[in-house]
Amino acid sequence: MKAGSVLVHCCCAHCTAYTIEHWRQQGYETSALWYNPNIHPYMEHQNRLEAMQSLAKTLGFQLIVIEGYDIIDYFRRVVGNETQRCQYCFHLRLLKTAESAIRMGYDTFTTSLLISHQQKHDLLQEIGNKIAQEKGVGFLYADLRKRYSDSRRITKSLNLYRQQYCGCVYSEWERYADVKIE
Ligand code: SF4
Repeated sequence: MKAGSVLVHCCCAHCTAYTIEHWRQQGYETSALWYNPNIHPYMEHQNRLEAMQSLAKTLGFQLIVIEGYDIIDYFRRVVGNETQRCQYCFHLRLLKTAESAIRMGYDTFTTSLLISHQQKHDLLQEIGNKIAQEKGVGFLYADLRKRYSDSRRITKSLNLYRQQYCGCVYSEWERYADVKIE
């Protein structure tokens, strides 16, 4: 018997591979959603999206792509709040996923960010639960961080584009200049 359906917000192919497998194994009808206006610059966004499309084809899951590139929305939230930018970034992406899940008739939503050691895990859980409560749609939580190596095992032989920084221009600066925005 199916456990229900879940719409998985996907941040990149390498975090998504095992995340999709996990929710499928739990018995959910699982689809992926691409909405990441936090990835800069535009061609970096396109490279990661192409990798995701390729993964979806290989693993055979449905990938829903939100058209457009809401970079202005992203910066309107973040400018002036740079030290807390991840909070606004998570909220923007998870809210879109929850609203899309409701519109398309999914029971629940979640995110591939929960598999990453690089992300603020507790904050993601808090924001996911808050949106779930406000919008009246379930948020599926699992601590998948120990399974990131399984995700990489899946994508390793696929030769997919792999990013070197989280996504935003701030994270790119931190990565390459070895600085920390405080
Ligand atoms: S560091 Fe990553 S999670 Fe934080 S705001 Fe930038 S892209 Fe978003």
